[in-house]
Amino acid sequence: RALAHQSALQQSGPLLSASPRRPSYDVAALRQALDSGELVNYYQPKVSLRDGQLLGVETLVRWQHPDDGLVLPDQFIQVAEEAGLIDQLTQQVLRAALQQVRSWNDEGMALQVAVNISMDNLASLDFPDRIESLLHELGVPASALMLEVTESRVMSDPLASLDILTRLRIKKISLSIDDFGTGHSSLRQLHDIPFNELKIDGSFVRGVSHDSYARTIVEASLNLAQQLGLKTVAEGVEQPEDWCFLREAGCDVAQGWLIARAMPAEHLSGWVETWQG
Ligand code: C2E
Ligand code: CA
Ligand code: CA
Ligand code: CA
Repeated sequence: RALAHQSALQQSGPLLSASPRRPSYDVAALRQALDSGELVNYYQPKVSLRDGQLLGVETLVRWQHPDDGLVLPDQFIQVAEEAGLIDQLTQQVLRAALQQVRSWNDEGMALQVAVNISMDNLASLDFPDRIESLLHELGVPASALMLEVTESRVMSDPLASLDILTRLRIKKISLSIDDFGTGHSSLRQLHDIPFNELKIDGSFVRGVSHDSYARTIVEASLNLAQQLGLKTVAEGVEQPEDWCFLREAGCDVAQGWLIARAMPAEHLSGWVETWQG
């Protein structure tokens, strides 16, 4: 798995240095992948910083490409957004994630599953109703779903997005503001949208224990979230010292390679056994 991950990273190497946002797969290939079920959900654990308990998982989509191996989302999400395929992609990811959380729950693992959504998804007025019927169809309570929202592009209609996010909250679906601190997410959004969780971007979390600039950002974000009554999550936790720093600083939840990488669903229960020792 590590090797597949690495080869996908290597493919993105030259593109990353030239232009980090340039898509490297074309629309026809992606449409074909969606239709033939080549997208797979991986899951990364979110654990309590207090006692290490597994609280939930974040769904991270991968493309099991027939020739290129495992392709990471940075290489195709933007293509999907630009080609109008993001609704289809999100529906597939959501359905698979909810089916998975249902079977984990049936096995006695009560987890919340987080799904990344694109700002473009919020352009569909029926998005909240479609999620509600999916929850109903699969027998999953709304409380078991969290949506992670990043403002990936300039919103075409911010008021409509706000309306849809509010309707999702009314339906008891949790909302997380993702990549906080990167400029994609703003204080304005925090004020306007009834978020449940604030997720501090990994670029501030990596090395936070010995970087005073990152520490200032992380502490200010935690402070703000606590004032607003939001649960706090640190993503990109790689070092034990960063874990300790975050716990001392009062952050609630950690996610990152120190704990586990994103993995196929069937590896999760094995991971839980080694994690809990
Ligand atoms: P994100 O939501 O900020 O997800 C976190 C990314 O950081 C993931 O990359 C994850 O694998 C990686 N990561 C986790 N822990 C660590 C760590 O300790 N160190 C480092 N260096 N990285 C870590 P990934 O899976 O490549 O996803 C990239 C982005 O693609 C995500 O960023 C998210 O914005 C987007 N994405 C992923 N899945 C979906 C999806 O189903 N729908 C949409 N719309 N976007 C998605
Ligand atoms: Ca996310
Ligand atoms: Ca994030
Ligand atoms: Ca991030």
